[in-house]
Amino acid sequence: MDAQAIYMYQNSPNDGGPRGTQRPNSGGNGNGSNGGNGGNSGNSGMSLLVRSILIVVVVLLGWYFFQYFFQSGSSSSSTSVLEVPYSTFYQQVQNGNVQKVVFQGQDITGQFKSAVTVPNTSGSGTQTGIDFHLTQLPNGDPNLNALILKNVPDFQTKQVQDNNLLWTIVLNVLPWLLIIGVFLFIARRATQSQQNIFSFGKSKAKVVLEDRPSTTFADVAGVDEAKSDLVEVVEFLKTPQKFQRLGGKIPRGVLLVGSPGTGKTLLARAVAGEAGVPFFSMSGSEFVEVLVGVGASRVRDLFDQAKKASPSIIFIDEIDAVGRQRGSSINSNDEREQTLNQLLVEMDGFDARQAVVVIAATNRPDGLDKALLRPGRFDRRVTVERPDWNGRLAILKIHSHNVPLGRDVDLITVARGTPGMVGADLANLVNEAALLAARRNLDAVTQSCFDEALDKILIGAERPLVLSDEDLNVIAYHEGGHALTGLLTEGVDPVTKVTIVPRGQALGVTMYTPLDDRYNYSRDYLEAQMVTALGGRAAEQVAIGHITTGAENDLQRVTAIARQMVTRWGMSERLGTISYSEREDPFAGTALANGSHDYSERTAAVIDEEVNRLIKIAYDQSVSLLTEHKATLDAIAKSLRLHETIDARRLREIMIETGAIGAAPAAYR
Ligand code: ADP
Ligand code: ZN
Repeated sequence: MDAQAIYMYQNSPNDGGPRGTQRPNSGGNGNGSNGGNGGNSGNSGMSLLVRSILIVVVVLLGWYFFQYFFQSGSSSSSTSVLEVPYSTFYQQVQNGNVQKVVFQGQDITGQFKSAVTVPNTSGSGTQTGIDFHLTQLPNGDPNLNALILKNVPDFQTKQVQDNNLLWTIVLNVLPWLLIIGVFLFIARRATQSQQNIFSFGKSKAKVVLEDRPSTTFADVAGVDEAKSDLVEVVEFLKTPQKFQRLGGKIPRGVLLVGSPGTGKTLLARAVAGEAGVPFFSMSGSEFVEVLVGVGASRVRDLFDQAKKASPSIIFIDEIDAVGRQRGSSINSNDEREQTLNQLLVEMDGFDARQAVVVIAATNRPDGLDKALLRPGRFDRRVTVERPDWNGRLAILKIHSHNVPLGRDVDLITVARGTPGMVGADLANLVNEAALLAARRNLDAVTQSCFDEALDKILIGAERPLVLSDEDLNVIAYHEGGHALTGLLTEGVDPVTKVTIVPRGQALGVTMYTPLDDRYNYSRDYLEAQMVTALGGRAAEQVAIGHITTGAENDLQRVTAIARQMVTRWGMSERLGTISYSEREDPFAGTALANGSHDYSERTAAVIDEEVNRLIKIAYDQSVSLLTEHKATLDAIAKSLRLHETIDARRLREIMIETGAIGAAPAAYR
């Protein structure tokens, strides 16, 4: 929410230390596994492909040979040609009744002068005719040549056609071999990009034409906010007429934002399942990685199919693959831009009566093309958070539903021991534990199976899935410090929620909701902002005794506020009510480069001193607040460790329990 001020305990990008830099950017990991899946389906597609090509080849060859034998057979067994025994032929030559003889290898063909009757080759009855055929004796007949020279007026010898036959075969088969070769080549290329050869231009969604997921919201846990956001979409898909009749705003595009494995695909399927509508899915990378020019037509096909099946859902995974800001990279990809444009066209081209909802998923919403987020397109954003321990417990329950659990298994302990893990991680954990139990021939999965499976996953993981106890402690105090300074300072926006469940880049978050939109900041307000922003760092110092890199973002915020107070808003007595803002470069629209301020070096030094002084005052204030109310800080941190997320009500309770409520501004009491 833009309206919420968020203080993050930041995961410093330069920090190679215990907090592990890769953790929040686990996109690589998730994508990797997706790629793996794609590869698998590609493999099965490949074997299917090879099989069908083999069938085609066999049929073609069979047909060819059948034709060949049938034709050569028919030429010799046609009814008008007599199949005569050698003896009969010899006799007829002797009698001078042969008009013509043609020698061709072993075959002798020719014509009698007057019709001859011979027993039928099949043995029953007789045949009469002029044209004849027979096969020469294996070694030839030395007497025959002389006899023929004497008695047959017309005789000739033809080249054996075997060579020609070979040629014909080569000429006939070669094109097929070439075609098959080309097919195989393209097939291999296509498999590399995880495509099926038979689906150029045809969207792969065809494959899932009648995919009506049986998934329901009950299969998704720990993401209640996202679920309740999607209920409306389900309602719309169930009874589109109702919405349309009332002229209500129809949900068109929903953007699911969340780390990999948090259950975005699962949620989209659950929406389809709940509404009982078909589900067409495609991954953004599939649009882009296909042969050139195909992406856009795939989009068209996908939408066409979905419209035909309306009401329906289109799910586009990894939309960032297509939807990256246009022209933002140097080697801009025309193919991708075409695909993106087609997507935009399709989203605008919906008929008001067509109940098709497009759900897209991404873990990087910032880089998306602005055009995608305009009204009528993906104008609804649903954030899918990492689950807190209650959510993790619910997810563990879902996935261990069909797994026999031993008596000693305590899923609560498992849920508590896996902070930061997402649904996919937990599903994997249950699976690993079950495999371990099976390997040990156990009747049920025991707690030690879970423990070992967790160890195995954590050791094998590229990123630290689970924060260490010590880290969690620091984060809890840090966020607790933000929250408590917020609670104790007059004029600060009320704290609504504190969490140590990581989201995005942040390992912990404290959220404040402004009471109303502010267009104007008072000096008190700005100073209070600085005190709470520094509360995280101050708490680390007060409670733990050493400071960490987690306050990077806080410090940037505070410095920005202090500097503007001094240079823009004239809030420093020493410098007076003068604006020292840096001039805008009239051409580039950016601040002038260093050294081109319209004030002297000496003034610059004074500005820095003043900024420092303001920050120091705020920090000291923060430290003294937290030192005075250390017991409350401890209680908040403890509660955060226990529940991972605590809301305003619980915070108030803690304030009351520890007696700090008396120190809070009147508005709180
Ligand atoms: P994403 O699309 O966000 O990367 P998926 O929906 O593909 O994540 O999740 C992968 C798998 O992890 C799911 O099929 C499911 O088994 C499990 N999973 C993820 N999140 C949840 C959840 N909130 N509840 C239950 N299972 C989940
Ligand atoms: Zn912070």
